[in-house]
Amino acid sequence: MKGTFPLGGFSGLTTPFYYYDTDLLRSTLRAINDETRRHDGFVVHYAVKANANPKLLNVICQAGLGADCVSGGEIRASIGSGFSPRKIVYAGVGKSDWEIDLGLQKGIFCFNVESVAELEVINERAHAVGKIAPIAFRINPDVGAHTHSNITTGLAENKFGIAMRDMISAIEQAQAMPNVRFIGLHFHIGSQILNMGDFAALCNRINDLQRELDLRHIPVEHINVGGGLGIDYDHPNRVPIPDFKSYFDTYARHLQLRPGQQLHFELGRAVVAQCGSLITRCLYVKQGAVKKFVIVDAGMTDLIRPALYQAYHKIENLSSEEDKETYDIVGPICESSDVFGKSIDLNATHRGDLIALRSAGAYGEIMASCYNCRPLPPGYIKEEF
Ligand SMILES: *Cc1c(COP(=O)(O)O)cnc(C)c1O
Repeated sequence: MKGTFPLGGFSGLTTPFYYYDTDLLRSTLRAINDETRRHDGFVVHYAVKANANPKLLNVICQAGLGADCVSGGEIRASIGSGFSPRKIVYAGVGKSDWEIDLGLQKGIFCFNVESVAELEVINERAHAVGKIAPIAFRINPDVGAHTHSNITTGLAENKFGIAMRDMISAIEQAQAMPNVRFIGLHFHIGSQILNMGDFAALCNRINDLQRELDLRHIPVEHINVGGGLGIDYDHPNRVPIPDFKSYFDTYARHLQLRPGQQLHFELGRAVVAQCGSLITRCLYVKQGAVKKFVIVDAGMTDLIRPALYQAYHKIENLSSEEDKETYDIVGPICESSDVFGKSIDLNATHRGDLIALRSAGAYGEIMASCYNCRPLPPGYIKEEF
């Protein structure tokens, strides 16, 4: 089964471009809201770094989600698309002074602080403008996630967060500073996680930390467990919406929230990945010495995930119903890693055929680069056809 696309509308467009099925995005957001409504205190933020296309940000903002930002640019993009600063959380190991100032000036909900050095700077900058910065500490829980090593973030060896043994001292330092207010703990163990056991392990770790804080009578208003829920890259048509029920139920079952505590989530990929496809055209079919290549006009500059993480994206020929043949699907960039798929069975392909790389809504358009002086791919939504 192939996905459904407005092929008539595609025919006049210059390729490559991203296409977003905004109906699927809305259904996905509805599924998230339906599940979180069943649990007291659950709050969902969209991780803007997955895709900051303003057309999508707008739909996501309309659905009522908050925004999880990792840069000043993302804070600007979120506010520009309608997100209230009061719903913005801001993480990142290397926040610049101007980015901290921007967060203070806009009055964001929370700075997720990743070191005591950063805490001191936030306290200073807040003092300079007469404000009190709400802060949470990002704790590195040393919990592994069964995913690609480039996208695990919660192991002791990763650069992210504050070590568990330093947590109490960091909180005590924050409590002694006049211009920061400690409001919560933040975690994020990685991305494309499909094993609910990994999230349960995080819950158990948080339960231990909370018991330690109880003993010291340190109140915590907010727990933020980050994002990381994966999607089914193999079956974008059969499983277009991730299993949000299992995900949120895992937290409801395993995490022991204190009375009145809010539980925040930061989902990126799970929100936008399945609604996006990179649409490209076959330029040439080339018979190599041992393989047949389909050379398309999109490259790793448009979608870098296969080159960067050996990621798989399902590939479909939208123009052909002929018998399948086996090809390597490659781009035009002068890099051997510019390969979208090896030994892929595709309907017999000819120059000019439209090819879809599926499940490309997250970490696709936003990671595009101008390497080889290529123009950035535009992004269109369903309403434009
Ligand atoms: C990347 C990131 C997320 C989102 O991760 P997904 O796997 O896309 O859900 C959430 N929180 C933080 C801090 C991140 O860096």
